[in-house]
Amino acid sequence: MAETIALTRLAVLGSPIKHSLSPAIHQYFAQQAGLVLRYDAIEVDDDHLSREVQRLADEGALGCNITSPHKQQAFALANRASERATIAQAANTLIFESGSRWKAENTDGTGLINDLVENLGLTLKGRTICLLGSGGAAAGVLYDLLAQQPSRIMICNRSPGRAEALALRFRAFGTVETCTLESLSRQGSFDLIINATSAGHRGTDPVLVTGLFADDSLCYDLSYGPAHAALSGWCTAHKVRCIDGLGMLVEQAAESFRLWTGFTPQTNAVLAALRAEQFQARGNLPITSPASSNSG
Ligand code: NDP
Repeated sequence: MAETIALTRLAVLGSPIKHSLSPAIHQYFAQQAGLVLRYDAIEVDDDHLSREVQRLADEGALGCNITSPHKQQAFALANRASERATIAQAANTLIFESGSRWKAENTDGTGLINDLVENLGLTLKGRTICLLGSGGAAAGVLYDLLAQQPSRIMICNRSPGRAEALALRFRAFGTVETCTLESLSRQGSFDLIINATSAGHRGTDPVLVTGLFADDSLCYDLSYGPAHAALSGWCTAHKVRCIDGLGMLVEQAAESFRLWTGFTPQTNAVLAALRAEQFQARGNLPITSPASSNSG
């Protein structure tokens, strides 16, 4: 009698979702774990998020990833939440504990720290950090940044009220200063400048000033792919070392996969494969990759 192989179900929900790399990343992880995975990318608007999540839960999925613009709504849908998701008031991961009991998690902060510390070898303790932006991604990474005990975190946002509200929400976890775009140039330089704005999706950089950067400062852009181009161009022109957020994307996905399945993926090979695919897509040398047919 033929053996039946169990199908693991997962998905990512958001809008727009067509270009999501999550299906490809999770297929790499599933291959490492020896799982047969169906991971769907589901386009969904605000009004239908709850219905689509319920459908996945009813169909036996382990959970789902949630991406922009639904992270706050996903948090509200869950019955319980981790401390990270609670303080961020946003979930990028739902874990289906049963068909009707869902736990909200946020793995963006773990993803960022794993990329900065494990992959790039940075030490954040005692360092100064400037965080640009105050949206869902900034809220998602602040808890883990504070846990690294930097000497200073400054949040700067186009709408100053949002930066102040974010700093207030995190005050139990450490001191967070805020400044306006206008006063950014008077704050001195930082060891690490993190771009958590969505400016790159409109082809612009988030208005940087050269005084933010000392000779050994690093600019880390949460955006990747075409959305990273404007900031990357600014940094190249101003001789600033700049890294995109592809490593964070893979690391936050790995943490979600671990929470759902108990398996910890090896991320280095997956990141290398994605970078090779990007290289190939730009019209360079052909490469082979185990999940290229699943690329999102
Ligand atoms: P949100 O829409 O929640 O927030 C957007 C933020 O960007 C707000 O603070 C907004 O300011 C600011 N902003 C938008 N346009 C500009 C501009 N032209 N100049 C200055 N600031 C601007 O988005 P998210 O927080 O969810 O995502 C932010 C970025 O992070 C996106 O590029 C996303 O792709 C990326 N991301 C990457 C991840 C990864 O794993 N690498 C994970 C999660 C997100 P205001 O408040 O004034 O509107």
